[in-house]
Amino acid sequence: MIKYPIVRPVLPKLETYQQYISTVFDNVWLTNMGPLHQQLEQRLAAYLGVKHLMLVSNGTLALQVAYKALELGEHILTTPFSFAATASSLAWQNHQCYFVDIDADSLNIDPDKISDDLAERCDGIVATHVFGNPCDVEKLDRLSKKYQLKIIYDAAHAFNCHYQGQSILNWGDASTLSLHATKIFHTVEGGAIIFKREADLIRARQLINFGFNSQQFPEFIGINAKLNEINAAMGLALLDGVEEQQQLRIRCVERYRTELVNLFQFQTWRRDSDNNGAYMPIICDSEEQLLSVMKRLTTLGVQTRRYFYPSLAEVPCYGMRGDTPIASDISRRILCLPLYAGMNVDEVTAICKLIKQAVAESR
Ligand SMILES: *Cc1c(COP(=O)(O)O)cnc(C)c1O
Repeated sequence: MIKYPIVRPVLPKLETYQQYISTVFDNVWLTNMGPLHQQLEQRLAAYLGVKHLMLVSNGTLALQVAYKALELGEHILTTPFSFAATASSLAWQNHQCYFVDIDADSLNIDPDKISDDLAERCDGIVATHVFGNPCDVEKLDRLSKKYQLKIIYDAAHAFNCHYQGQSILNWGDASTLSLHATKIFHTVEGGAIIFKREADLIRARQLINFGFNSQQFPEFIGINAKLNEINAAMGLALLDGVEEQQQLRIRCVERYRTELVNLFQFQTWRRDSDNNGAYMPIICDSEEQLLSVMKRLTTLGVQTRRYFYPSLAEVPCYGMRGDTPIASDISRRILCLPLYAGMNVDEVTAICKLIKQAVAESR
C-alpha cells in the first residue's frame, strides 16, 4: 500500500473552483480566448514577472509551437537528460538533433561541450532547466550570439524560478512551461510560452488557432493548441494559493536535504538562484543501490520514481546522435522522492527514517 505517493496534484477549494465554473456558465463562453483565459494569462504574467506570455493546451505543444513561431532551423542541439517531450517535440517536427552531454553537478546541458564545429552547423539549442535549476544561461547566450543560434528553454520544471533576482523565463528567445496536473502550478492539462519578442507572440497566437488571421483566413499552417475556459478556471482557482503551496514544498526539500546529506549526492544549485521546491531528486552511488533502495521503499509504502530514466540518447525511436556518458550514468542513478501538495516536514522526517533503513539494508 502506498503511504507516501511520489506526487499528489494540488487542488483548490471546491467552492473557489465552483465560483469560477459558474462564471463560465454565465458567460456561455467555453474556449477561444475566453474571459477566464485572458484573466489567467494576465495574472500569470504578472505573478511570474514576464511580458509576452501565451497559454496553450499543454507543455508539449508549448515546445512545438515555440519552434514554429521562431521558425527554428533543422539542426538542433539538445540535452539527453530531460523528459521525453523535449526530444519527441523536436523529432515530431523533423528536426535533426545532436545530444550534448550534461554537467554532472548541475545536471543541465554543458555549454563547454558544444564545440565550435558543432555550433557552426546548428540552428538552435533546446535546453531544460532540470528540476528548476537554471542552466548556464550566460554561456548559452554567448554561443547563441556568436553562432546565430535560437534558444528555447524547456522550463516545465522552472515555475517561479529566479536567477539574479529575475524570472529565469526571461532568458532565451522563448521559454515554455507545462501546467500539467503533476506540476507545482497547473490547469489540469495546459502550458505556456514566454517569448522574448512581441512579434513572435503575435505569430504564435495565430499558429495555435489554425493560422487564422483576423479575417478568419488561414494565412499559414497552424494547429489547435488553445487552452479552454474549464482549464483556465482551475488555474485561476489555484493561483492565489500557489505562493503558500510553494513555500511548504521548499521547506520539505530543505528538510530532505538536511536529513539525507550524508547518504546521497544532490544536484548542485546555481548561484544567485532559488530552489522552487518542484522535485526532490537524490543521486545514488550505483544503479544497484538505487534498485535495492527503491524496492525496499516500495514495500515500506514510499513511492519513488526513476526520473529522468532512461537517458533520451538511449531511446532508439528518437534516432539522435551524440556522445553523452554523463547523462547515461546519472540517469541510471537518480531517484525522485515523494514531494506532493499538502506534504509537511514531519512526513519528510518519517520518510527519511525509512530511507535510512532501506540504505542500511542495501549495504
Ligand atoms: C512535464 C514536462 C513536459 C511536458 O509537459 P506536458 O504538459 O505534460 O505536455 C515537457 N518537458 C518537461 C521537462 C516536463 O517535465
